[in-house]
Amino acid sequence: MYSFDNLIRYIKIIASLIFKIGLVYSLLSFVIFSNEKKSENHIAYDTINHKEYISLNRFRKVAKNVHIDFNRLLLTVEVIHKKKMVRFQVNSKFYYSDGGMYPLDYAPVYQKNDVYMPRTLVEDLFTELDLSISYKFDNKKVTVREESHKMRSNAGIDFIVIDPGHGGKDPGASGTSSAIEKKITLDVSEYLNKYLNNEFPGVKIYMTRSRDNFVSLEKRSDIANKKLNKENFGVFISLHCNSTLSQNVHGYEVFYLSQNPGSEEDRKVMMRENDLLSSGDPDIGLIESYLLNSQILAESKTLARQLNRSLMTELSGHVTSRGVRKADFRVLRKSLMPAVLIEMGYISNTAEASVLQTDKYKLKLANAISIGIKNFIKFKPKM
Ligand SMILES: [Zn+2]
Repeated sequence: MYSFDNLIRYIKIIASLIFKIGLVYSLLSFVIFSNEKKSENHIAYDTINHKEYISLNRFRKVAKNVHIDFNRLLLTVEVIHKKKMVRFQVNSKFYYSDGGMYPLDYAPVYQKNDVYMPRTLVEDLFTELDLSISYKFDNKKVTVREESHKMRSNAGIDFIVIDPGHGGKDPGASGTSSAIEKKITLDVSEYLNKYLNNEFPGVKIYMTRSRDNFVSLEKRSDIANKKLNKENFGVFISLHCNSTLSQNVHGYEVFYLSQNPGSEEDRKVMMRENDLLSSGDPDIGLIESYLLNSQILAESKTLARQLNRSLMTELSGHVTSRGVRKADFRVLRKSLMPAVLIEMGYISNTAEASVLQTDKYKLKLANAISIGIKNFIKFKPKM
């Protein structure tokens, strides 16, 4: 009897030891696992002829789960992730992805048994390949952080935030005749609101402003982000009009956020849209260090392409497209949902300024944008 009691006691001690070891082990693995998930990798740029590149060999070490094929004869590179593939070639200023050819500001080069990719191509790899990462391009390097894949059950859309650019003390650009950006953006937004309410009865439509008042750039994305929760999905559309010193420039542009602006022209548009309200903003230093989510950026890019397509179809013969472009707009930086900024035309161009002020054209613009959003939702893949 005595030895049986002892046996039970030993079993209890051993069982509690096993339990404690298990607990410590799972705690440890949790700590290791979550550290691994949050770990950041950095790739420094290589400067060749005053331009910044990222080495393919170093990219390979950071971009896990990505398959890379390099053809030494043709000097072509294929980067593959799941069902997505991007192909580019040394000395070519275009890359291929998802059935389209896209321009680069400068071409990849081949040196010392390695391919050097322009910064902008690396950002496009992040967003074209459906990678689950966050990233940040600063002056010296790119930082990459792996993110757990976000599951989204709903392929539809729950809300749309319309952002009429400028307002109140900030008139935005003023053009020839009486064209003022803040008025045109609000008028088109109101029409768009009506179109969207008719088109999507179950979808909530919000405006960041509905009258001529001042709203800071940060407040605008905050308004949109507050509508977001775990179950729903929305998009953010910011409307603007462009202006430049040359009276000859005309056309509309659809922008998505990028830390590698597409061209010097895009950089100028970005400076103009960002600059006006920057005074007295305590967030500026903080904002610079933001990591961008590649999946949100990928969706923003798709949304921009759909909008450009519908604008081209609906506005043909009126105003021409200057294409899908990219720049670092402050109003888009903090967005936790797909976001685009449309420059609806140049009010510094006399002909375009007068057409932009007509109700007929404002309605046409609103209609084209609502069709673009409809197509985005229709062709949006399930995440
Ligand atoms: Zn503007």
